[in-house]
Amino acid sequence: MANTETPKGFGLAIDFGAVAPAPVPAVATTTSTAPTEAKLLILGSGPAGLTAAIYAARAGLAPIVIGGYAPGGQLMLTSEVENFPGFPDGIDGPELMAKMRAQAERFGSIMVDQDVDRVDLSAQPHRVWSAGREFRAEAIIVATGASALWLGLESETRLRGRGVSACATCDGFFFKGQEVVVVGGGDTALEEALFLTRFATKVHLVHRRETFRASKIMISRVEAHPLIQLHMNREVIEVLGEKSTEAVMLRDTTPGATGAPERLATGGLFVAIGHKPNTALLGGALPVDAAGYLQLESDTTASQIDGVFIAGDVHDHRYRQAVTAAGDGCRAALDAERWLAERDASRS
Ligand code: NAP
Repeated sequence: MANTETPKGFGLAIDFGAVAPAPVPAVATTTSTAPTEAKLLILGSGPAGLTAAIYAARAGLAPIVIGGYAPGGQLMLTSEVENFPGFPDGIDGPELMAKMRAQAERFGSIMVDQDVDRVDLSAQPHRVWSAGREFRAEAIIVATGASALWLGLESETRLRGRGVSACATCDGFFFKGQEVVVVGGGDTALEEALFLTRFATKVHLVHRRETFRASKIMISRVEAHPLIQLHMNREVIEVLGEKSTEAVMLRDTTPGATGAPERLATGGLFVAIGHKPNTALLGGALPVDAAGYLQLESDTTASQIDGVFIAGDVHDHRYRQAVTAAGDGCRAALDAERWLAERDASRS
C-alpha cells in the first residue's frame, strides 16, 4: 500500500457533527497579470506564508506570495479550528485562511495562486519559476509547509474530518469518552497515543511490525499505560462508516498469517506514520536534516543562503501548529525586512 500525501494539519479541530466541510469563502485568484518582480517573494500560503505577507506588506514591501493552486494549506480542507487565539467560539479553517489572506492583501500583498516549479537561489536576484513565468526578488521566504503521510485507503480519504485525523493535538478533544485507534510505530504515533489517553477511554495502537521504531523511553511509557492496548503486526486495511468513523478492519501482517481481517470498533482513527516537508521545489538548494526538514543557520529564520529565509513546518517538526507557523512567518518577515534595509543602506 503506497503512502499518499496531503498538506498536513495545522492546529485543526474538526467538527464531527458537520456532514460536509464548511463552504470555502471566495477569494480572488489573479495570477496571470500579477507582477513578477518584488523586493520579497513568499513561497507558500499557509499561516506562515500569509503572516509573513501581512508583516512584509505593512512594511511597504508589496510581497508577491506564490501560494499554490490550492492556497491556504490544510486549513482549507477542514471545518472548525478551536485553538487559534482570538476566536473563542472557533472559526472555520477556510474562513480563517480567507481572513489572513484578506489582511495580507489589504496592505498590498500580491497573491499568485500557482505552484512553484523550481528555483534558482545561486545568485542575486533570486529567481523562481511558476507556471511558465519567472519571478525575481532579492529576498525569499520559504514557507511551503509539510505534508502528512496517509495510508492511501479510499475509506480513509472519504472519512477524513469525520473521525480520521493526522493530528491528535488538534482533534483529540473531540474523542472524549470514546475508543480511538492510532496507527504507526514511531515517536509521533506513541506520543499521540499517550496524548489521546487524556480524552479516550481506550487507545488502540496499531503497528505493522513486531517492534517499534520509537525511542525506548516512549515505548516503556506506552507499554506501561493502562489505557493503551497494543496491536502489533497489524495494519488497517479499511475504515468503516458512512457519515463518521465507526470501526477499522485490521489485517494480521505476520508472515504466513491466514486469519480473516478483524473488526475493531472506534470513533476515531489517528494516522501517525510520518510527515514529509515540502522541499522538492527547492531542488536541494538548501540543506536539510536527516528527516528532510530545512535547517536554520542560527536562532533567526535565516537560511544558509543570503536573503533566503525559512518559516513554518517546512523546518519545524516539533510544534507543527497554525499559531507557531504564524509566529514563524512574522519572524521571517522581520528578518527579511531588516536584511533588505541593511542591503539598501550598504548600497547607498
Ligand atoms: P517515523 O519515525 O518515520 O515513523 C513512522 C512510523 O510509521 C514507522 O513505525 C513506520 O513503520 C510507520 N509507517 C510508515 N508508513 C506506514 C504505512 N503505510 N502503514 C503503516 N505504518 C506505516 O515518523 P515519526 O514518528 O513521525 O517521527 C519522525 C521523526 O521525528 C523521528 O526522528 C522521531 O524520532 C522524531 N520525533 C521526535 C519526537 C520527540 O522527540 N518528542 C516526537 C515525534 C517525532 P515501520 O517502523 O515498519 O517503518
